[in-house]
This record gives sequence, structure tokens and C-alpha cells, in this order.
Amino acid sequence: MDDCIFCKIVRGDIPCRKVYDDGELLAFHDIHPAAKVHFMLIPKTHMDSLLEAEDSHAPLLGRMLVLAPRLAREQGLNNGFRTVINTGKGGGQEVFHLHIHIIGDDVSPVVG
Ligand code: 5GP
Ligand code: ZN
Repeated sequence: MDDCIFCKIVRGDIPCRKVYDDGELLAFHDIHPAAKVHFMLIPKTHMDSLLEAEDSHAPLLGRMLVLAPRLAREQGLNNGFRTVINTGKGGGQEVFHLHIHIIGDDVSPVVG
């Protein structure tokens, strides 16, 4: 996907403030944060939205949901957080590369 913003971030063509990176998934801070902590978790392989989800995506989507609380805690969200997946035009999606927003204001101070 040549002109997908998030694919450009995956390729390193557009910089981001990285939260997490592995072979399959990438997380980075939202450029317009809606809270003290606001980052996105995306699959590195392009997928427009949850509307395209099929059974074969279950392991990937499962990994994303399992990783979300770990990354949230690492960002100081120890008391919980919001997850948002805007899906399709009707769901208010603006960037058509599947992503989970992880959002929270209840940030614990970092000790040490
Ligand atoms: P959506 O409405 O599609 O769920 O949300 C897209 C999100 O991507 C928005 O919160 C917006 O601020 C964020 N965003 C758009 N372009 C960029 C970018 O170039 N870098 C980063 N880090 N976030 C972006
Ligand atoms: Zn993409």
C-alpha cells in the first residue's frame, strides 16, 4: 500500500514515536493525542479495517488484544485504559490501516 500513512510508518518513510515493534506488530504514539497516553497498535501487514477480518486473522487479532494491556501498563496505565477501533467510514475511521487506539489519563508515576 504505497500511499497508506501507517504503511509508510511501518517502512520508516514517516517517523513515529515508537512504543513497541516486533516482526508482526508495531505500536506508536498518536500524533494528536486525545489523552495523556494515546498510542496505536497496528499489524505491519496492511489490512484496511476490521471489515476485512476473516477467520485466518484470528491469531493476529488475538495477539493484538493480548499485547494491548501489556503495552498500556508499560506506558503507566496500571488502572485501566480505553481501546477504540474505528471501523469503516460509518465508524469514523480516518486512516484505513487497521489500528487499535489505546487511550488513558490515569497514568501512574514512573518509579525509579
Ligand atoms: P482513526 O480515526 O482512523 O481511528 O484514527 C487515526 C488516528 O491516526 C488519529 O487519531 C490521528 O491523530 C492518527 N494519525 C494520523 N496520521 C498520523 C501520523 O502520521 N502519525 C501518527 N503518529 N498518528 C497519525
Ligand atoms: Zn497500510
